[in-house]
Amino acid sequence: MGPNKPKIRRMPLLPLRGLLVYPSMVLHLDVGREKSVKALEKAMVDDSLILLCSQSEVNLEEPAKEDIYTIGTVSKVRQMLKLPNGTIRVLVEGVVRAEIQEYVSTGDYFEVTLKELPEQMIPDPEIDALMRTVLNQFEHYINLSKKVTPETLAAVSDIEEPGRLADVICSHLSLKIKDKQEILETINVRARLEKLLDILNNEREVLELERKISQRVKKQMEKTQKEYYLREQMKAIQKELGDKEGRAGEVEELRAQMEEAELPEKVREKVEKEIDRLEKMPASSAEGGVIRTYIDWLLALPWSKKTEDDLDLARAEEILNEDHYGLEKPKERVLEYLAVQNLVKKMKGPILCLVGPPGVGKTSIARSIARSLGREFIRVSLGGVRDEAEIRGHRRTYVGAMPGRIIQGMKSAGTANPIFLLDEIDKMAMDFRGDPSAALLEVLDPEQNETFSDHYIEIPFDLSNVMFVTTANVAQNIPRPLMDRMEMLYIPGYTELEKLQIARNYLLPKQEREHGLQEDQLAVDDAALMTIVREYTRESGVRNLEQQMASLCRKSAKRIVSKTDERVVVTPDNVKDFLGPAKFRYGMAEEADQIGAVTGLAWTEVGGDTLVIEVSIMPGSGKLTLTGKLGDVMKESAQAAFSYTRSRVKELDIAPDFHEKNDIHIHIPEGAIPKDGPSAGITMATALISALTNIPVNRHVAMTGEITLRGRVLPIGGLKEKSLAAHRAGIKTILLPKDNEKDIQEIPDSVRSEMTFIPVSHMDQVLEHALIRPALVQKQV
Ligand code: ADP
Repeated sequence: MGPNKPKIRRMPLLPLRGLLVYPSMVLHLDVGREKSVKALEKAMVDDSLILLCSQSEVNLEEPAKEDIYTIGTVSKVRQMLKLPNGTIRVLVEGVVRAEIQEYVSTGDYFEVTLKELPEQMIPDPEIDALMRTVLNQFEHYINLSKKVTPETLAAVSDIEEPGRLADVICSHLSLKIKDKQEILETINVRARLEKLLDILNNEREVLELERKISQRVKKQMEKTQKEYYLREQMKAIQKELGDKEGRAGEVEELRAQMEEAELPEKVREKVEKEIDRLEKMPASSAEGGVIRTYIDWLLALPWSKKTEDDLDLARAEEILNEDHYGLEKPKERVLEYLAVQNLVKKMKGPILCLVGPPGVGKTSIARSIARSLGREFIRVSLGGVRDEAEIRGHRRTYVGAMPGRIIQGMKSAGTANPIFLLDEIDKMAMDFRGDPSAALLEVLDPEQNETFSDHYIEIPFDLSNVMFVTTANVAQNIPRPLMDRMEMLYIPGYTELEKLQIARNYLLPKQEREHGLQEDQLAVDDAALMTIVREYTRESGVRNLEQQMASLCRKSAKRIVSKTDERVVVTPDNVKDFLGPAKFRYGMAEEADQIGAVTGLAWTEVGGDTLVIEVSIMPGSGKLTLTGKLGDVMKESAQAAFSYTRSRVKELDIAPDFHEKNDIHIHIPEGAIPKDGPSAGITMATALISALTNIPVNRHVAMTGEITLRGRVLPIGGLKEKSLAAHRAGIKTILLPKDNEKDIQEIPDSVRSEMTFIPVSHMDQVLEHALIRPALVQKQV
């Protein structure tokens, strides 16, 4: 019998449940089954050796021999301890693998004959390498699994026998019994190591996967946890700050508003997107505020809300006349528009441009047009607008960006078809920030304004239903391309009689109503009204007149309330008791005919006006001084008058060297008001010649006209306005350029019939009519 010859032995068998013992392993077992206890007792009687074999099914209480693996471990029982509950705790040590040969007994306990299976070690250089790899893999496994302590690794690394190494490592792995049994059954050490390596690899992969999954889960958990935590914190902060609603309430409210507003598809999509963005913003963040404002704008704009036009012509006419005296052209134009609208459903509205001095009712007629059509009215002033962005808005990336004035106007109009008044279109400026008139062109172009784009709003807005009305003081200052798009309606200013009518029928009743006066409590006769028009106002429009009416009403109300008077009657004699002393002297500019002072006529932004030009001559060295805030054109005009005079010294009998021995000063009073233009040329020449010849000027005469060096009189503009101003000033005769003769018919009858208009083509004629004595000694040849 050699040492390697397996011995056949007889031994009790203990079936193990869910557990497996390798040789050289020491472990505790709790034994409870009666058959097992008996087997143990038998072993203790013999040599403390017992065969430990696993049963294939953990749950079997009474396994038959088929249920027990045939290869197990012969083990030595080291200790036995009876526990109070009847089970026995034993400490066993695995000794050697063995295979069951035969069941000797299966009655009280199992007893088998077995064959020991000692380690089969064929010398193999690869074993070492295998061992190292296994150890390596085991180390990885330990790192991943965490179920095995690193100390185990240290202990395992010390094992030198390869078979034992495999067994010990395997005992530390959490494997199925079936797999563990397989290792046990692999007698060949090399094969065992290889199998173990396989298992380790497998386990490692599984573990790695597990780790990845758990990491992902953990990360997600962490993220949601973090967000949850932050949100809770935010809520707490908001609560502290008294912001009870937070974002959630806000977003909900906005969604409700969005449902309510009738938004076009595109706008709705945008609003939805922005609300989603807002929802993700922390409450009270700056960006959230920006988004919120944007959403509010989109929701507030009248994308499709329209008012129904009132197409009743008779009613519209009534309303227009009720609000304003005269202004025939604008009224007519609106009625025509209505008439066409009656026939055609959709028509591009005309763009009216009302041109005229302040206070002639441009704004208020536009308001009245809105009333007569039953539309909303909105007024936007363009005065001083010099930046394209003011019309078209700033991009949202700008800090504090806002939509432009057009969109702002639409928002406050609240409907898509208001009357939109663009005030002072002639006062727009242009500079490096872009040309606002270019943007305005797009607004006013019926071909383009269906998709007006505001930089802030981004979504095109349809302006095609809007009826635009613009106003200007002077047509020349309107950018040409804009002018081409509009229908110009000129309102020149009112005559005295018209003003009287307006005051009596519109301004006074309006002010009475506003001051709560009954109709019979204040009586103002026509003469008193005319006095107010003449001596308390000097204007083309009626704004001042309206103010005077207002003070009349104020003063009257005071008298009535304080019971000084029961009824107030205003006459020319007592006007000053109400309005103070007269502000303007009605009548001639001068009391007597003067030397060197001539009345000229000017046309300014505020309408026509009279101005007196004075010339004084004093001994000196030939200096020409001009004062009175004159513009360049007017200065040149003065030079021309001067040169003309010098060229005519002989005919006028003036000392030929007058310009060398005298200083000449031309002054136009009211120096605070800037004056410019060529139309004072003949006036300056007349004043100069009057001063040089010592012939007085007829104080009833006023004049206007440009002068050439040879004394020809050239045409001027604004004759109508100038005539009204002359009439206001009590002038009887107007000298005007021959070429302007055709304009006389435009002057209102009431003015024309009270004045004489003398067309002139040469300076000689001017002198003939203006000076009270002939100045020309010698006619020109
Ligand atoms: P503008 O816009 O041309 O400067 P407003 O429209 O402000 O002038 O007019 C000033 C005031 O004069 C308003 O109260 C207006 O009602 C009144 N008004 C002007 N013209 C007339 C008119 N033809 N009939 C009645 N009221 C008028």
